[in-house]
Amino acid sequence: MQRRNLVVAIDGPSGSGKSTVARGTAVALGLRYLDTGAMYRSVTWLALERGVGLADGAALTALAEAAELSITPDPAAPRIAIDGTDVTDQVRTRKVTAAVSAVSAVPGVRLVMVARQRDLIGAGGIVVEGRDIGTTVAPDAPVKVYLTADPATRARRRASQDGQGAEAVAGTEAELIRRDQADSSRAASPLTQAPDAVVVDTSSLSADEVIAVIVGQVAEVVS
Ligand code: C5P
Repeated sequence: MQRRNLVVAIDGPSGSGKSTVARGTAVALGLRYLDTGAMYRSVTWLALERGVGLADGAALTALAEAAELSITPDPAAPRIAIDGTDVTDQVRTRKVTAAVSAVSAVPGVRLVMVARQRDLIGAGGIVVEGRDIGTTVAPDAPVKVYLTADPATRARRRASQDGQGAEAVAGTEAELIRRDQADSSRAASPLTQAPDAVVVDTSSLSADEVIAVIVGQVAEVVS
């Protein structure tokens, strides 16, 4: 296996440290970076913008099919645009976060997104983060990592990522647990651990320590 063909799949719930670790791994290894959560968030942003009902699976699927996603897979400065609008910052708002699980649970939306993700992965040379990368999007990925962390740690990370203070942590934890529950119990490719994934509990590890574990995994498969 050569590095330019490598696919590193990083899955896990929100606040497990996925984004920081996936970007850092891609930078360390000189690989491209794909944030699949940002793709679901972009479609959700567009649905809210156009007033498409979050319970209307057919309309959401049609919206996803017609939408043009443009992704810059640079781990140092990843960007995403949908139908010509750069939504890199807008997709992080609470409004989008609160709605994204409803959109990502629609099987038709997932079909469209998974096909685009496979196109973007192409011949490899990429770190891909999400919820179903090791199980569905790239089940043959030679390196699969599943990140976990206890809920309190995840809430603390999410709140500080969102620029919120300590008083917001409890609310964030409740919201996070709700979203995990929705993501894990949906019928279409739920958040699950691939049986062959290396599980890393990041609760008491720094991002650099987690990146070192993944780089070590990569060294075992890359010649
Ligand atoms: O990773 P992030 O929190 O940005 O993901 C946002 C949402 O997108 C998740 O809560 C989940 O509903 C959805 N998602 C998904 N499959 C992926 C990535 C994200 O369903 N591969």
